[in-house]
Amino acid sequence: MEIIIGSHVSFKKDTELLGSVLEASTYGANTFMIYTGAPQNTTRYPIDSNLTKKAYEEMKKNNIHQNHIIAHAPYIINLANPKNMDFGISFLKQEIKRVESLGIGKLVLHPGSSVGLEEKVAINNIINALNEVLSIDTKVIICLETMAGKGTEIGKNLSQLKEIIDGVKYPLMVCLDTCHLHDAGYDMSDFDQFLNEFDQIIGISKIGCIHINDSKNERNSHKDRHENIGYGYIGFDNLIHIIYHEKLKEVPKILETPYVKDLENKKLSFPPYKFEIEMIKNKKMNQNLMEDIRKFYISSDK
Ligand code: FE
Ligand code: FE
Ligand code: ZN
Repeated sequence: MEIIIGSHVSFKKDTELLGSVLEASTYGANTFMIYTGAPQNTTRYPIDSNLTKKAYEEMKKNNIHQNHIIAHAPYIINLANPKNMDFGISFLKQEIKRVESLGIGKLVLHPGSSVGLEEKVAINNIINALNEVLSIDTKVIICLETMAGKGTEIGKNLSQLKEIIDGVKYPLMVCLDTCHLHDAGYDMSDFDQFLNEFDQIIGISKIGCIHINDSKNERNSHKDRHENIGYGYIGFDNLIHIIYHEKLKEVPKILETPYVKDLENKKLSFPPYKFEIEMIKNKKMNQNLMEDIRKFYISSDK
């Protein structure tokens, strides 16, 4: 079975989408996810259409389909709380235009955190904000991400997401994150059970993207710390079962696993994605993952 697999890649000011495609191609990926700038801030530059055009030529060569690539909104946006609401709304409107001009069809969004508000109120704020952000002309589909429930995060269970989806006048989808689901208390070793529950509450056809991450913590920890594939509490076999799930074969899978640190120079770290994708394609756990990654990037001097 051909899977749609890639990772988070960088989107740099000078190379934009072209740089992202080239990076993804070094990982053997057939999709990727970008933030249109730094994930932790909202500084954004105008898109260079020439670079976008070149990116699409390069995508063709690498068998990456336009409708499989994903954008992620910066995570400091919080539509749940009136404190930053106006900024969040105007930023998201612009972000949607940027993502559309890049030809990307899906934008992952963290629903927000209630910080002091009642859950009901926070969810209503998110609904109202999204109704203001979206319009009949919006081409990008917002994918609400399932969250770990760290602090006061909204989106830690399916009924919260269902409420938002029902309240928003325009169609939304969901981005599953395996680490977040596990940290929120869902059992990823019984994924079929989870998928049944998801289908009953929201509907499998609403799954627009899946973040594939292992977790550094036990189930229900509400921590949200990602681990490399097969090195955490979810485990390799459970993640493989999810990645190759027959009902999810059309859904892009995106790795957001941590970079591997160099042993001597602590400031140096290397992307794990080429090697994680390799072991996913082989369906075989690599017990020397960290060593292989360090060896490859140190000797290739990248
Ligand atoms: Fe996310
Ligand atoms: Fe995620
Ligand atoms: Zn996370």
